Amino acid sequence: MRRIIGLFGGTFDPVHNGHLRMALELQQRLQLDEMRLLPCHQPPHRDVPGRSSSQRLAMVEAALESCPQLSVDGRELRRSSPSYSVDTLAELRCELGPEVSLCWCVGMDSLATFHLWHRWRDLLDYAHLVVVGRPGWQPPAEEPLASWMRARLAAPTQLRQAPAGALVLADATMLDISATSIRAAIAAGYSAQFLVPDSVWSFIKNNQLYR
Ligand code: ATP
Repeated sequence: MRRIIGLFGGTFDPVHNGHLRMALELQQRLQLDEMRLLPCHQPPHRDVPGRSSSQRLAMVEAALESCPQLSVDGRELRRSSPSYSVDTLAELRCELGPEVSLCWCVGMDSLATFHLWHRWRDLLDYAHLVVVGRPGWQPPAEEPLASWMRARLAAPTQLRQAPAGALVLADATMLDISATSIRAAIAAGYSAQFLVPDSVWSFIKNNQLYR
């Protein structure tokens, strides 16, 4: 049977229970053989006050200590500069071969701006796109995204039938948590306990992040 690997990219600044719950549910519901979290470089337009790529990676590693179903792939952070998702996918395709099914997983908020991604139309040459609903976000209704999406919309069973090319809307519990609100809460002196795993909250406190 075709192997199927989920890939979940993000800045994870910090990784939180919204990310982790989504990744775990997708791994289980879609019966993914692997589900990898891929921390990416902070996009240049986002401010980076006081935490490094290695700290974001360390938080993902800490979060996954007690979750063998999920793993971390730090390849993007090992490069010195930001890389486009499509290039990371091309590299993974080369490494894993033409047969394995790759599923690039994003939240609905990411789909809304998908047409602004570098070579966005090519991404489905390398992988499927799995989109999970996020509180407050609807599927894009504007062109060119709406018709591109309609033409590729497929059932989850398609993910194992081909290595790439389908767009699947998947169900997962929607937790209304964002890294932005966590950073703001900590900066205001509030606790992030229960929004992030205890191991991540300890790391944040020990390293005095987001204060
Ligand atoms: P920020 O608030 O800093 O933008 P974020 O919480 O949205 O961060 P990112 O690391 O930017 O997290 O997002 C990585 C991916 O995780 C994106 O595809 C995003 O849609 C998804 N995501 C983020 N939060 C959630 C959540 N609560 N539930 C489901 N998906 C989420």
